Amino acid sequence: MAAVLPEGRLFLITGPSGVGKGTLVAALLARHPQIWLSISATTRTPRSGEVEGQHYFFLERSAFEAKVAQGGLLEWAEFAGNCYGTPREPVERQLAAGRPVLLEIELEGARQVRRSFPSGFQIFIKPPSFEELERRIRGRGTDSEEAISRRLQRAQVELQAEAEFDAVLVNGDLNEALAQLERLMGLA
Ligand code: ADP
Ligand code: 5GP
Repeated sequence: MAAVLPEGRLFLITGPSGVGKGTLVAALLARHPQIWLSISATTRTPRSGEVEGQHYFFLERSAFEAKVAQGGLLEWAEFAGNCYGTPREPVERQLAAGRPVLLEIELEGARQVRRSFPSGFQIFIKPPSFEELERRIRGRGTDSEEAISRRLQRAQVELQAEAEFDAVLVNGDLNEALAQLERLMGLA
């Protein structure tokens, strides 16, 4: 009889835009290549350096809506004027194969995933201060002034949701935050 693999665990990271989620996740994956990171679909236009199928699947809004209608997304939400969603099939396949799966998504999507995967572990990343968050978004240099102000407005709402999460992590010193993330995920 074929051995039944244990189901992989679902981890989810949320936090305001610019807090350093992408930076932390890249460092985590470099150290723990067994983790499988979900690649989201989005209607946002690519930033310079972003690669189709690596950072996101970049879709026209009509193609995104077709995916939603087919039930092809595990969750989706609108954020700062664009749609973002997690393709369902690859997540289910990786979990069934016993791999730890990581989603890096915003608050509304996290709430949807909490309903469909109550056993998942959800981590909220927050900045040392709002001023530092603004400095990081501006320092990244990838967003228009309009996009920055929409993201900062949304950040005010997101920062009030930390109590919903299984764990809260302050991304002050990057190495310290990475070590804490590893401990939370049982990797350290
Ligand atoms: P997010 O994915 O949450 O939108 P990014 O990973 O793009 O955020 O980070 C936003 C900016 O903040 C980047 O320029 C990144 O280099 C910087 N950054 C990330 N983590 C830290 C940290 N711990 N200390 C200082 N700057 C950071
Ligand atoms: P960005 O445009 O900066 O890449 O992402 C904007 C926001 O969308 C971030 O908070 C990011 O976590 C979130 N996001 C990325 N992919 C998804 C997804 O598949 N679903 C949801 N709900 N949010 C996502």
